[in-house]
Amino acid sequence: MTESTIRGECPLCRAEMTLERPELVEAEEDKALKEAILSGRFFKAHCPSCDKDFIAATPLLYYDRRRTAIIQLVPGYTGTGPLFGEEIFAALQVADSGQPVRVIRRVVTTPNELTEKIHLLDAGYDDRLVEIGKVLALQEVKDQLPNLTGLRQVRYAPKTDRHEAQLLFFYDDEVPSMDFPQSFYDSIGLSFAEALAATDPEEDLVVDTNWAVRFLKKAGSNGDKPSAQAQESE
Ligand SMILES: [Zn+2]
Repeated sequence: MTESTIRGECPLCRAEMTLERPELVEAEEDKALKEAILSGRFFKAHCPSCDKDFIAATPLLYYDRRRTAIIQLVPGYTGTGPLFGEEIFAALQVADSGQPVRVIRRVVTTPNELTEKIHLLDAGYDDRLVEIGKVLALQEVKDQLPNLTGLRQVRYAPKTDRHEAQLLFFYDDEVPSMDFPQSFYDSIGLSFAEALAATDPEEDLVVDTNWAVRFLKKAGSNGDKPSAQAQESE
C-alpha cells in the first residue's frame, strides 16, 4: 500500500495544505483502513493553519478480492471522462489462470456512497437490487415524505445486533426508516431477474437511485412488484 500526497486547500480558511493518503485499499489486506473508511475516520482531515477538522473526499480505489469488485470514489465524477485505475481494472479482469474474470466496477462520488457500497458487498448484496428496492420503498413511505424535493438521500444501513437491515430516508430534519429484510431483497431479485440479465454491464458504472428509476422505466410496470411494510422511525 502506497500513500500519495494530495495537495489542496482548506475549505474553512483557504490555507494550502497537503494530505498523505493511500489511493488503493484492499478489503482483505487493509482491514484497519477499511474500518477507518466505514467509521468515517479515513476521510477526516485536519488543517494545521486554522486547527479545524473537515471531511476531505479524495480519490480512492477500494478493491474486494473475494467479491471481485472494485469501487472507485471519484469526487466530482459526472459519468463521462477518463477514470484513474484503468490498468488495475484491466489486470484484475484476467485471473492467475489467464481466464477472464467478471469484475464488478462501480464509481461513487462521496464517502457516504462508498461506505454504503462496502456494506452491500459485505452483505453479499447486488447493489442494483438495493437501489431498485429504494425506489419501490419510496412508494410505500411517500405519505411520510409529502415533498420529495426535501428528500436528500436514501441510504442502506446494514443489519446490527439490535435491528434488521434498514433503508434510511434523509428527509429535511427527519430520518424515517423502513426495514429491508432479506425477503424483500430476494423478491426484488426474482421480479427483475430477466430485466437485470439484459442490462449492459458497461452502463452500470454508476448505480444509484437515478439508475434504478431509469431501470424501472425500461423494465416497464409489471403488476406484481414486491413491496415492504413501511415503518415509523423511532
Ligand atoms: Zn484551515
